[in-house]
Amino acid sequence: MKVLIADQINQKGIEELEEVAEVIARTDITPEELVNDIKDFNAIIVRSRTKVTREVIEAASNLKIIARAGVGVDNVDVEAATERGIMVVNAPESTSITVAEHTIGLILALSRKISIADSSVKGGKWEKSHFMGMELNGKTMGIVGMGRIGSQVVIRAKAFGMDIVVYDPYITPEAASELGVEVVDLETLLKSADVITIHVPLTPETKHLISMPEFELMKENTLIVNCARGGIINEDDLYEALSKNKIGGAALDVFEKEPPVGSSLFELENVVLTPHIAASTSEAQRDAAIIVAKEIKKVFKGESPRNVINMPVMDPETFQIIKPYFRLAEKLGKFIIQTAQGNINELDVTYCGELAEIQKHDIITRILLQEILNPILTEPVNLVNAPAVAENRGVIITEGKRTDAKGYKNLISIEVKSEGNQVSVEGFLGREPKIVRINGYQVNVKTEGTMIIARYKDIPGIIGSIGVKLGEHDINIAKMQVGRQTPGGEAVMVLKVDQKVSKEVEDDIKALPNVYDAVAVEL
Ligand code: NAD
Repeated sequence: MKVLIADQINQKGIEELEEVAEVIARTDITPEELVNDIKDFNAIIVRSRTKVTREVIEAASNLKIIARAGVGVDNVDVEAATERGIMVVNAPESTSITVAEHTIGLILALSRKISIADSSVKGGKWEKSHFMGMELNGKTMGIVGMGRIGSQVVIRAKAFGMDIVVYDPYITPEAASELGVEVVDLETLLKSADVITIHVPLTPETKHLISMPEFELMKENTLIVNCARGGIINEDDLYEALSKNKIGGAALDVFEKEPPVGSSLFELENVVLTPHIAASTSEAQRDAAIIVAKEIKKVFKGESPRNVINMPVMDPETFQIIKPYFRLAEKLGKFIIQTAQGNINELDVTYCGELAEIQKHDIITRILLQEILNPILTEPVNLVNAPAVAENRGVIITEGKRTDAKGYKNLISIEVKSEGNQVSVEGFLGREPKIVRINGYQVNVKTEGTMIIARYKDIPGIIGSIGVKLGEHDINIAKMQVGRQTPGGEAVMVLKVDQKVSKEVEDDIKALPNVYDAVAVEL
């Protein structure tokens, strides 16, 4: 077996591989040389310099695995690799401790004013009384997002004698009790924490998660740190909150625009900034090299690696039969993650009609899981790792078959139990994917665009009041359907609308009399 090391990696990774393979380091290889020579290799390790393009992959007749010694795989054409049955692996856990340590470093820099004190001393001053600090002992740390990095921050914050509150609607109670943390809602965290640190991925849900209304809830001495992704904190609002002394200080490793040239934050004393270096330690690089080397060894031994980003396609015949259902499953998964409230505990999928006769259902369930988990996790959830990621997060999955498809040729029927509610949805694949039942009510909805789903009491005037409310927000209704079981009982309304629907609009509809619930879904 031959492994190409195309970018500089830690020697420990190379040593690990030399036990099983011929390892050739060509860390200055050009794109042309790579296309030319890749056919001689069974594995390649890259960091970010080398681009593994479609052209490279198509020339890679003997390649089994592409390894990225780090987290992001932007420099690898994963789709092209998947099509050719080449695995792509990475090392998502390699930076967790490193980032957690940087977070603690930034918190101390803020609480003890270390960086400004340093500049002051180097500037020839001795301003002892100017740098009165704050002890962390006994204070409350608010952690937003308790995944790999957030969990490491918990351990370190505890060592400082801090009380910890966590906001993460997607973690299981078991994960929280294992780390001994109290899980609270965002508002409680913002109001109670002395130090707030962000460890969520940047998603539509977390974009500007911390803006002026959130700063308004914080205590006036609160320190806030972001080592996750730029854009989760609204930087204009942060500037305003800091300059008006609404909060005590902020430290950022990541920015809305990187580098943050000319940022108004540079003017402020109570701000500490680092240039996206939270993951940059030699230990993290060493660990990334060792992790991917072990993954390559596994593949060479015929075992399954842990951190596979993709999954090579299955046998072409089964793939052709099952592939059309992928789109339906994707849409249903998207529907579920937007309508379920909080952590999903149970997912029950039944394949009906023609679908009950197809063997490889599990791949459709994997697609569902991928769509449900991807919006909330940093690591890419894919067809290979979806069941394992779901299991780690405590989701109980059951799959069933039923020959009867309630009058349709095929039907995917899904029931989801989450922390806050229960959702059921059924989808049918005709010429295009359609949702045909929501929470037991029959509908017939194309799976595209924006829709609002409202539960309400089936009495005169409700549909009108929702229409008026949407009109006030300049939202145009393109189509409407209602479903009910008995006149005067509970009913469900699906409104296709032409504009995007904000949380404020959702809340306004929910606040209308006799409307039980309203949620906007983007498909
Ligand atoms: P992770 O996927 O292990 O954890 C993310 C956690 O956020 C999950 O527990 C998830 O349930 C939670 N979450 C998702 N949406 C949420 C929401 N709306 N509200 C609250 N919680 C939510 O990710 P990780 O490896 O711990 O990484 C965390 C962040 O750190 C990511 O943004 C990642 O890109 C970033 N990161 C930054 C650097 C750096 O150099 N600064 C390096 C590595 C990772």
